[in-house]
Amino acid sequence: MLVLGIETTCDETSAAVVSRSLTGSGEIRSNVIRSQVEIHAPFGGVVPEMAARAHVEVLDHVVAEAMKQAGIAYRDLSGIAAAAGPGLIGGVIVGLTTAKALALVTGKPLIAVNHLEAHALTARLTDGVQFPFLLLLVSGGHTQLVAVEDVGRYTRLGTTLDDAIGEAFDKVAKMLSLPYPGGPHVEEEAARGDAERFVFPRPLMGRREPDFSLSGLKTAVRLEADRLAPLTDDDVADLCASFQAAVVEVIADRVRAGARVFREKMGRGPSALVVAGGVAANGAIRARLGQIATELNTRLAIPAPALCTDNGAMIAWAGAERLARALTDPLDVSPRARWPLDPVAAGPMARA
Ligand code: ATP
Ligand code: FE
Ligand code: MG
Repeated sequence: MLVLGIETTCDETSAAVVSRSLTGSGEIRSNVIRSQVEIHAPFGGVVPEMAARAHVEVLDHVVAEAMKQAGIAYRDLSGIAAAAGPGLIGGVIVGLTTAKALALVTGKPLIAVNHLEAHALTARLTDGVQFPFLLLLVSGGHTQLVAVEDVGRYTRLGTTLDDAIGEAFDKVAKMLSLPYPGGPHVEEEAARGDAERFVFPRPLMGRREPDFSLSGLKTAVRLEADRLAPLTDDDVADLCASFQAAVVEVIADRVRAGARVFREKMGRGPSALVVAGGVAANGAIRARLGQIATELNTRLAIPAPALCTDNGAMIAWAGAERLARALTDPLDVSPRARWPLDPVAAGPMARA
């Protein structure tokens, strides 16, 4: 089956066509991504109203380009998927409304995809990962450990009590006057810095519950930066290296805790440790998680960086996975700013 997917929940306008075979393997036929980074960079963060307007301006072209690159017509599609949340509501409305219009005109089924579910399922497309697996979702807006048992069966094992990890990277970058978005710049600085110059706190390390907390660490970096100001290039590099080292250690410890809880709840170990979200692009984090996976006697699956950050292919793929199970949505399905993956956390609004 061929599915068109649309992603507009944050600052990427993306559309993609993905195929899924009867055996469950997938292939990306096209994945067109238009980043809004340049629009938001002067503001040091995503401006929701500007994001929504930019999605409106380019989405039609992005969809047309995705169809063209895939070399298919609308009649060849089995379904049309869009991220229906969680995210910035203006953008979500733009993408979901476009998908509804296309579904109405073509008569194809609509699949309203949870953006987090799409991040979660991407490794099945890229690495053929089998259920159940342990997901570490680390992005600009989310930091979660999730037991993924099947399509639509997610148990959140832990989450951040304050900042998301990507957010912490971005805030540290901002306080050190590095460009937005900060993650990649912090990593670059860290590569030439001394990770042992500063000993920053490792919040919640050793805690049984696989939760995260980043704000204390972020504040510690700020205090040190204030103390040293004005900062030399070496100070910046050393602060980045010491911050990243703390994050890497925290992640390793929290994933171990998550794997323990996974085993208790599932009665077995995960078939893979899957990492998703933009922070998964970080080399130091990837390397450490490779060691952790070995230690946990499982394999590590991290999609390529372009598939870890927001993209249409992950929405199309999640749509295909749902469609293969006959999970489609009515044309009046609502966009949602908030939409937790875990049905318990999602409450009575959750989709059955
Ligand atoms: P969400 O998916 O939760 O709605 P988002 O769309 O902002 O949030 P992504 O696009 O998946 O998240 O990821 C962006 C985040 O990843 C940013 O916070 C960015 O700084 C971070 N990031 C990207 N590359 C790196 C890197 N090399 N090291 C650390 N962080 C990184
Ligand atoms: Fe995302
Ligand atoms: Mg993004």
